[in-house]
Amino acid sequence: MDPRRGVLPDTDVLVRGATIESVGKQLRAPAHATVIDAAGALLLPGFVDTHRHMSETALRGVGADWTLGNYFQWMVQKWGPLMRPEDIYAADYMGMVDAVNDGVTTVTDWSYAMLTPEHADAAVDALTAVPGRARFAYGNGLAPDFGWVVDGRVDRMLKNRFTGRRDQLVTMQLAMDVNSPTDDARKALEFARDRDLPVTTHAGVFGFTGDAQIEFLAGTGSLSPSYTLVHAAALTDDAYRIIADSGAQISIAAESELNGGQGYPPTAKARRFGIPVSLSLDTVAWWSGDMFSMMRATLNADRGLAHLRAHEAGKAVENNALRAHDVLEYATMGGARALGLDRLIGSITPGKRADLVMLRTDTPAMTPTSNPVGQVVFQAGRGDVDTVMVDGRVLKHRGTLVGADLRRARRLIEESLEYLRSKIPDREWEQAMNPPPGATARY
Ligand SMILES: [Zn+2]
Repeated sequence: MDPRRGVLPDTDVLVRGATIESVGKQLRAPAHATVIDAAGALLLPGFVDTHRHMSETALRGVGADWTLGNYFQWMVQKWGPLMRPEDIYAADYMGMVDAVNDGVTTVTDWSYAMLTPEHADAAVDALTAVPGRARFAYGNGLAPDFGWVVDGRVDRMLKNRFTGRRDQLVTMQLAMDVNSPTDDARKALEFARDRDLPVTTHAGVFGFTGDAQIEFLAGTGSLSPSYTLVHAAALTDDAYRIIADSGAQISIAAESELNGGQGYPPTAKARRFGIPVSLSLDTVAWWSGDMFSMMRATLNADRGLAHLRAHEAGKAVENNALRAHDVLEYATMGGARALGLDRLIGSITPGKRADLVMLRTDTPAMTPTSNPVGQVVFQAGRGDVDTVMVDGRVLKHRGTLVGADLRRARRLIEESLEYLRSKIPDREWEQAMNPPPGATARY
């Protein structure tokens, strides 16, 4: 993912402390160095997820058949408000362990359910308890307005928990769904600009937010390369032009958009208008926490639509426009760029932090390996993730977590699910997993 280097065969990587010191053939390691034999394996930069609602981890898998309307009806309106600070802690802790195990070395916790300052503290406690890299995107989307942004709790969090240095393992930004052009929203955006705090917003969601939101955000001077628009799917070309001119990023969650119905994954639009793309998985309440699925869903969506459009015109696509290399870039450097961390992570480059993922190639799924990038994208899975390093520290080795406590994570998340289930009527729980006709919420 370092364009000056490309894919290098038979190469060593020397890590000193938290940093990649050198990349080259037959490097001499210091006598005391730990040597990890990566012969025949693939080493890639860790994946970066730019949008994951980690508070929903206890409800993993329940939304397999949901549309976005179903998600709002159960997750946002009914279950989100049930979460106690300890539920947030358990969800974020398990979410971090899941991310590390899957090779997602940086995960953005799009924390829309920070009902009280105690909830936010619990999230940050959990994100820092597991030594992966995370971005705490502070949000309180269940509140009716943006008073929470300016009432002191965000400043307190910044002062007490964050140094402002980007090389902290956990950094902070704001997660705000600015849907209407209110004075409150204007003040909250101004607050973020004053403090140089990056912001992320769900945008271009069919039936929910459209061009007007993009025009409003641009009008306040808020859109910039540090602003990430999630989905950005159901928009007109005018809005994509505004986004491109501002330098803002989009986070595409293809599995979410294809199943939920927020809009079609806008990879072709991003290509046409030159908008930088990162990938995200949205929530494990629907699908898995790994980026292999996201890369595949992104390619499938882009190519499938191109073929369909061509066939409708009686033609065939000659060559696929979106390549495996492009989506691997979205999943690594693209994410690093969106989080303003591209000088620190996203590629295997001397001087950057050692956030690395080693995939085995002697598994049945990866043998033989002729096309490294193509096979990472279309063949590899979580079972091939052998070793994961974050900030120079080995957190998974030989397929086993060594720097994250899975047993504790499991105990906490099971206790949390037990509590949540005690608050959710059986009928509601059953209906949620098998949405009956007419059950979809209006929004
Ligand atoms: Zn989302």
